[in-house]
Amino acid sequence: MEYVAIVVVLFVAFYLFIHQRYLKQDGLKDSAYKKKGSLLNSKESAFYNALIAAVGQQAVVMSKVTMTKVIAPKAKDKKQWFIANNRIAKSHFDFVVCDPRSLEVRVVIELDDGSPLSKGKVERQKLLMHVCQSAGIPLIGATIKHSYQVGKLRRLLAAHIDLIEADKEVRFCKRCGSPMNIKTATHGDYKGRRFFTCSRQPHCTYTENYNVVFEDE
Ligand SMILES: [Zn+2]
Repeated sequence: MEYVAIVVVLFVAFYLFIHQRYLKQDGLKDSAYKKKGSLLNSKESAFYNALIAAVGQQAVVMSKVTMTKVIAPKAKDKKQWFIANNRIAKSHFDFVVCDPRSLEVRVVIELDDGSPLSKGKVERQKLLMHVCQSAGIPLIGATIKHSYQVGKLRRLLAAHIDLIEADKEVRFCKRCGSPMNIKTATHGDYKGRRFFTCSRQPHCTYTENYNVVFEDE
C-alpha cells in the first residue's frame, strides 16, 4: 500500500512538473517582440559622440545604465532596504563615465532634454541629486545643444578622471548626431573653402559652413 502511495505521489509530481514546464513554454511562445531601433535618439547620440570624443581612451562612456547596477541601498534593516531599493528600481542614469581599467563609475551625467519643468522632471532631478550625493558620485548636468565644446566637456570631466589633452573643436551633424568631418571644396563657387560634412555620407548628406558659430556658454 505504501509502495502504491509513493508511486502515485511520484506520478502526480511528474505530471505537475511536465504541466508547468509546458505551460511556461507556451507562455513564452505567446509573447512576440520587435526591435525598438536606436538606443539613443539623435540629440542623445550627438551628446554621446561629444562625450566619447572628450574622454578618448581615458574613460569609458555608457548610456542608460540602470541605477541598481551602479548603487545599492545602505540600509539597516530589510524594510528600509526595500523602500530605498524601490526608489531607484525603475530609474536609470543617462550617461556614466567609468575608469577604463576597472569600469568603476566615476561620474554620472544627466542630459536635460530642454523640456519644461514638470512634476516628473523635478522628482527625477531630486532623486538624482540625492542618490549621487549619498553614494558619493559626482553628478554633472548638461543641456541638449546642436554643438558641444569637447574641450569644455573634457575640463568638466578632468576634475574626476585623469585626462590630459588640448582643446579641439568637434562638431556633430544637426540631422543625425554623427561626428562631422572637415573637408575642402575642390570645385564650384566655394572651391578652396573648408566645410563640415556628416561622417555618415552618403547615408546622411548634411553639410555645414565651417564658419557657422553656435552658442557658447
Ligand atoms: Zn548626419
